[in-house]
Amino acid sequence: MKEIKNVAVIGAGAMGAQIGALAAEAGYDVKIRDIEEKFLERGRQLIEGNYDRRISRGRLSEAAKKDYMSRMTFLIDLKEAVKDADIIIEAVPEIMDLKQSVLKEVTALCPDDCVFATNTSSLSIAEIAMVAKRPEMVVGTHYFNPPSRMTLLEIVHGEKTSKEAINMAEKAALAMGRAVVHVKDVPGFVANRIFCNMANEADWALAQGEGKSAFEIDSAIRYKLGLPMGMLELQDILGGGSIDTQYHVMEYFGETMGKSYGPAPILEELFKAGNYGKKTGKGYYDWSEGKANEIPMNAGVDFDPIRVLCTAVNEAAKLIGMEATTREEIDTAVLLGLNYPRGILRMADSTGLERIADELNRLYDTYKEDRYKASSVLTKLVKQGKLGRKTGEGFYSYGAGEYEFVKLEINKETKVTRLILNRPNRANAFNADFMTEIDKALSELEKNTGVQCIVITGAGANFCGGADVSAFATGQMDDAFNFSEAPHEVFTRIETYPKPVIAAINGAAMGGGLELALACDIRIMSTIAQLRLPELTLGLLPGAGATQRLGRLIGWARAKEMVLLSEPVMAEKALDWGLVNFTAEPDKFESLVDEIAAKLANGAPLAQKLAKGLMYYGAQADQRTGLFIEATVSADIALTKDLNEGLTAMNYRRSPKFTGK
Ligand code: NAD
Repeated sequence: MKEIKNVAVIGAGAMGAQIGALAAEAGYDVKIRDIEEKFLERGRQLIEGNYDRRISRGRLSEAAKKDYMSRMTFLIDLKEAVKDADIIIEAVPEIMDLKQSVLKEVTALCPDDCVFATNTSSLSIAEIAMVAKRPEMVVGTHYFNPPSRMTLLEIVHGEKTSKEAINMAEKAALAMGRAVVHVKDVPGFVANRIFCNMANEADWALAQGEGKSAFEIDSAIRYKLGLPMGMLELQDILGGGSIDTQYHVMEYFGETMGKSYGPAPILEELFKAGNYGKKTGKGYYDWSEGKANEIPMNAGVDFDPIRVLCTAVNEAAKLIGMEATTREEIDTAVLLGLNYPRGILRMADSTGLERIADELNRLYDTYKEDRYKASSVLTKLVKQGKLGRKTGEGFYSYGAGEYEFVKLEINKETKVTRLILNRPNRANAFNADFMTEIDKALSELEKNTGVQCIVITGAGANFCGGADVSAFATGQMDDAFNFSEAPHEVFTRIETYPKPVIAAINGAAMGGGLELALACDIRIMSTIAQLRLPELTLGLLPGAGATQRLGRLIGWARAKEMVLLSEPVMAEKALDWGLVNFTAEPDKFESLVDEIAAKLANGAPLAQKLAKGLMYYGAQADQRTGLFIEATVSADIALTKDLNEGLTAMNYRRSPKFTGK
């Protein structure tokens, strides 16, 4: 594939400027072109402002800023901008005629093998490419705003886009730190297709009277589904109020995907009345006083969000059926583009695919709308009995070694396994399925004789942010109890686990995250981490063991301080209190963890298992009983090969080789 050196960005607006900066940061020479000096200046200021903010937060050096700025040239001369470009990223306003005229103009001036990437959130790539001399070089790239935080990039394959253009676009995108998802040229691509249809379905639920109020529907979506915001409030405030934008998207979907996909009547009503949401003072909510409408956690108790979820899952399944993209790419788009807590297909697998299909069938029987017809991909899975997590297979399979939230790094040589809490976009927060997966991982690792020590740590910047509280939003005591009881099973299992378990606290350990660490045998803490029990500030209780384990570990006075005051405990104090065993600066943290894990992995497995058991069970009894158990177990171990090996090795001054027998 051709090397990429020169990138031209056409349009120095909100997106163009930020994309240009990403390209400069990737090391490319970047020319940013706009039609007037004042637009170029505005773009330059946007870029510099972003850099200055990062510098003020200590996340960027002045030298790096200077370096990046020196790689960007701002200019009006189009020929100069594109004459030696390897890839052109067009970011002019979302108007078909304009995009086409820019494409025509640009391709007359750029090298023949230059890729033209058009940045659009909704226009058809095939249609834009119709005017191109070489339509095979035209590819869609849908960036998300702001690109510094939203790393998703949808690469859209037009009907005639060549493999080469796709590969070049992907190469540049990866160098620019993007998480790439490929999709065919379908309306809405992936993220917006799912989001806008899901939002429209919430509108329908209100219009049909299935949800009694916006508050009820949004509460269920926020707290039961766990999405960051409700679908109706989002339509009111996205981009400062976007009922007009949502209406136009749904009009477009109605035209391209079928009438049934058109705007819900209530959306049409609001649009026609000029009630665009927050910016006009009224939308689904009343914004006349300019302040946010609080949506209570318990307002959605009577609304089942499956009513809205099922249509989003159906659209995702249809994308798979059309071979427009893959299940993993759909879920990546949903996680990174929509900030959902889980991929939509993962949510479906947990809900149960038969429930999704039943809800779609109910809706179709009731309303006879085409969009409720279940996708063949979904119905086939249900017919095959692949109903999701509970049957071990659904959109994904959940066999041995297959996880959504856990990542296992098994090192056969060192016999140390890292059990990584892998939900970085939610600070590695637990939900019920996450707990089940930790338990499953522990079962797999318990049987694996090549694993002698487990290190539990977090992906990304956090150790674990605690628990998702959505179980408390159902209003059902049973759900809340099951959710509260699950960690006790798993954490007690860690405490009594036959192999040593280290908590490598790489970042914040909050609430349930700290409680998980408390159940581990050894705690190693990075000096940038913090430990905190915030539950009481929310009216909750630390329900995963802190009211019991913490006082036994550090004394009741300090435990009460942590529980009642909810203040963070930093590394120095944590070490002083005996809350952690070791601390290390971030650059030495991993090597310290490796060192201690290696020591434990080389230890005598049987003696470790029995020592852990003696300490745990002995602590439940009075001291004399404990001592008696200790004597009995110590006598048992006298007959083991490991004891023989340990004593022989000591006599010959060599390292013992334990076998656990
Ligand atoms: P914008 O209006 O902020 O910027 C567009 C820029 O293009 C303006 O500076 C304008 O002067 C310039 N321009 C117009 N004609 C030009 C030409 N012939 N040559 C060079 N420059 C020209 O728009 P934006 O928000 O940056 O959006 C650009 C594209 O990105 C649109 O297609 C939009 O749909 C898409 N997009 C935007 C967002 C977002 O949140 N802003 C998110 C995803 C995708």
